[in-house]
Amino acid sequence: MNTIGHLINGEMVNDTARTQAVFNPATGKAEKQVALASKATVEQAISAAQAAYPAWRNTPPIKRARVMFRFKELLEQNADHICKLIGQEHGKISHDAAGELQRGIENVEFACGAPELLKGEHSKNVGPNIDSWSEFQPLGVVAGITPFNFPAMVPMWMFPLAIVCGNTFILKPSERDPSSTLYIAQLLKEAGLPDGVMNVVNGDKEAVDTLLTDQRIKAVSFVGSTPIAEYIYTTASANGKRCQALGGAKNHAIVMPDADMDNAVNQLLGAAFGSSGERCMALSVAVAVGDEAGDALVAKMTEAMKGLTVGEYTNANNDFGPVITAAHKEKVNGFITSAQSQGADIVVDGRNPKIEGFADGFFVGATLIDKVSTEMDSYQAEIFGPVLQIVRVKTMQEAMQLIDDHEYGNGTCIFTRDGEAARYFSDNIQVGMVGINVPLPVPVAYHSFGGWKRSLFGDLHAYGPDGVRFYTKRKTITQRWPSSGVREGVSFAFPS
Ligand code: NAD
Repeated sequence: MNTIGHLINGEMVNDTARTQAVFNPATGKAEKQVALASKATVEQAISAAQAAYPAWRNTPPIKRARVMFRFKELLEQNADHICKLIGQEHGKISHDAAGELQRGIENVEFACGAPELLKGEHSKNVGPNIDSWSEFQPLGVVAGITPFNFPAMVPMWMFPLAIVCGNTFILKPSERDPSSTLYIAQLLKEAGLPDGVMNVVNGDKEAVDTLLTDQRIKAVSFVGSTPIAEYIYTTASANGKRCQALGGAKNHAIVMPDADMDNAVNQLLGAAFGSSGERCMALSVAVAVGDEAGDALVAKMTEAMKGLTVGEYTNANNDFGPVITAAHKEKVNGFITSAQSQGADIVVDGRNPKIEGFADGFFVGATLIDKVSTEMDSYQAEIFGPVLQIVRVKTMQEAMQLIDDHEYGNGTCIFTRDGEAARYFSDNIQVGMVGINVPLPVPVAYHSFGGWKRSLFGDLHAYGPDGVRFYTKRKTITQRWPSSGVREGVSFAFPS
């Protein structure tokens, strides 16, 4: 069986003492296995990154950026292969994988601007013959830990920017679908990145804990579920590291009575069921304001969902693929069952769909649940499956209150034709990323991505301008060159 190893100092390394099966979720078969790095292997990667750091730190930003220009071209040339690897292990359909890759490439494009992004701030004559400036220096060896659901895009939120800022990097991808991430990292070598600047260690908690506690790691970026994000943030912080840890979500869309209902339904279909709902920005709750809006939404959604197809990644006619594991399929089905037993209406039931030729695949069909209330387990938890729940309220204020009361605050959206309502919503809602008639308001690469409340632990959001700040530390230099022969007197007063 093919074993997926690690990339350390530009070479593939296999430590196969511990391995884990990697499944094709459409067939339900383990077709590969991944090596789970030991503490010693992770330490080997950290040593390689540490050794590569001084030369890379002193490489001019424009030369670092040139590697990224070549890397972007290689990503585009090899897009089909990357999407195939994503499909085989994650299960997402090729059009969806291509979208994720494109969003990743946009982060590489942003990183190509390193010389501009790393420009400091300069003040001449802050005192007589005194100039002062701030510059942004790299941190050293930094680490990224990423989730299964975007094996190409989320790593590219991190390492391109970290690397062009002059850091060296250790990436710990998801052990459930590591191949596309590893392949992308290998392209960096082809793009001319010196060995040791980018390293990939596959693994589980042992690898992560080594990264969190080793004193040579200066910063940790994490994306994954909230309980793990909280653990990463508290452990990394306790070990003196800078940390940004992005967690889970429960994204609500408010459907106002004046919304263009056909448009809202089209947008909700993609945002709720695309990628099997396994997106941290998936809209998983639609809050209908008024019964008329609720009835229209349920009727139109039910009709529109008849056309949805779930299936294997190679068939581009499929709308979405399987969920990631058999256990996750059971978990999603369990939430649907619990909503039913707690009194909600299962309007469209996607449990255990029959997919010809893929009887053992981890498939869940698109599911619509109406009359959901806030005490239900299915409402409180992040389901992370193709399940859209409808909550009915009487007023927009009530809708906003339940969004604010939820523990997560990643994304949200309002469907309306009323500009005043939309502006009030975006001004006041306690959520980090807001869409107005835009269902998945994922910020573009030159903004930054991050939620509020328990969707993000840390101060700086991912990528974009916040990413540059996260991967650099400010140094401020104040300089005077006294004229020759001029000697200044002693002063004990604070300089002013
Ligand atoms: P996960 O938390 O299970 O795993 C994420 C990473 O943490 C993986 O690399 C995994 O190996 C590691 N990990 C898991 N358990 C660990 C432990 N006990 N100790 C140390 N490390 C551990 O998340 P997942 O299931 O891969 O991804 C789905 C989750 O990620 C969802 O909750 C989703 O909302 C979230 N997510 C959030 C964002 C965001 O930007 N906020 C983006 C994508 C995904």
